Amino acid sequence: MSKNWSQIIRELKPYVPGEQPKDKLFIKLNTNENPYPPSPKVIDAIRKKTDASLRRYPDPNCEALKQAIAEYYSVKKDTVFVGNGSDEVLALSFISFFKQPQPILFPDISYSFYEVYCSLFEIQSIRIPLVEDMGISLVEYEQPNGGIIFPNPNAPTGKLLSLDSIEKLLKQNGGSVVIVDEAYIDFGGDTAIALIDKYQNLLVTQTFSKSRSLAGLRVGAALGSEALIQGLERAKNSFNSYPLDRLAIAGAVEAIRDEAYFQSTCKKVMETRERTVVALSKMGFSIVPSMANFVFIKPTGIQAKELYVRLKDEKILVRYFDKPRIDAYLRVTIGTDADMQTFIEKTAQIVAAA
Ligand SMILES: *Cc1c(COP(=O)(O)O)cnc(C)c1O
Repeated sequence: MSKNWSQIIRELKPYVPGEQPKDKLFIKLNTNENPYPPSPKVIDAIRKKTDASLRRYPDPNCEALKQAIAEYYSVKKDTVFVGNGSDEVLALSFISFFKQPQPILFPDISYSFYEVYCSLFEIQSIRIPLVEDMGISLVEYEQPNGGIIFPNPNAPTGKLLSLDSIEKLLKQNGGSVVIVDEAYIDFGGDTAIALIDKYQNLLVTQTFSKSRSLAGLRVGAALGSEALIQGLERAKNSFNSYPLDRLAIAGAVEAIRDEAYFQSTCKKVMETRERTVVALSKMGFSIVPSMANFVFIKPTGIQAKELYVRLKDEKILVRYFDKPRIDAYLRVTIGTDADMQTFIEKTAQIVAAA
C-alpha cells in the first residue's frame, strides 16, 4: 500500500493467474494451456518475420489477421476486432459497452476476471447463481441489465450451453450487449458467431491461447456487428494503438490458416478428455460434463485441497479455488495421454493412502 495509490487501485483485488513454475519438471494441468505445440507453420512464420522490419511499428489495424479470421468464419472483415489476448479484448469490451446505469449480469461461478474488470472500471454487477447441476440457466438473465457476459463453455465448470438457449436470451434481451466468451468453444461446442448478423448486440470473444496453442503469443479476437466493432476500435485507439506486434500478427495468421493441424490437436485433446473422464468415474469422482480442455472434478476419499497439495508434491499442478461453493472441486487441464496417465496413477495412489 502506498499513499500514491488512487482509491481504485487501493480497493482492487487483482486477478491471480495460475502458477507458472520455473521448474520444468512439473506436469502442468493448471492453466488450460494446450499440451501440443503451435503448428510448425506458425513457428516458421514468426521466424521469417524476425528481421530488420522489427524497427518499424506493426500495422495498427492488424488487417492481415482480421482478414484471415473473417475468411475462416465467412464474415466481413469489419465484424472482426483483435487484441493482445482475449483478456485485453474483454477489458476493452467492458469499457465500451458495460459502463451503464444498470448493473451487468454474469454467473456467480465463472471467469474471475469479470469481477476484476467491474472493480477496475467501476461497473455494478449482479452475479446470478449457477443452478443445481453447475449449469447456467439463461432464463434468469431475462431481467433489466446493463449487459450480460458468460463463458461458453463456462469456466471453471466446462459446461456448454446450446446455441438455441443463447438465441432465446438474445430474443428477450434486445437492448444491452450480450458477450459470449468462447475461450473454449473449439473443444466440442458450436460458436455463436453464426448469430452476429442477426443480433446487433451480440459480441463473441475468442482466444488463440487454448485451442491454437498460443498462450505465449497473446492474441484474442471479438466478432460482432460493425457498430460494436467500431466501438471497440474507439476504445482500443484511446489506449494502445499497437496491441499486436509484428510477430504475433504473423503467427496468428498461420494459426488460423493451418486448419488441419488445429483440427487434429483439438481432436486429440477431446479424446484424451473422454478417456480421463472414464478413468476418474471408475475411481468414484464426480465430474461435471465438460466441453472444454479441462475437467471440473470432485474427488471422493480425500478433500480437494489435500489432493491438490499432494499432487503438487508429486510435481503435478492442478487448479484449486479456495472459494465457497467450489472448494470441494479441482480444475484439471487436459494434457497429453501420457500426462493424464501419470495424473490418474498418482491420484489413485494418493487417494488409496489417504
Ligand atoms: C483463458 C481465458 C481467457 C483469456 O484468454 P487470453 O486470450 O489468454 O487472454 C478469457 N476467458 C476465459 C473464460 C478464459 O478461460
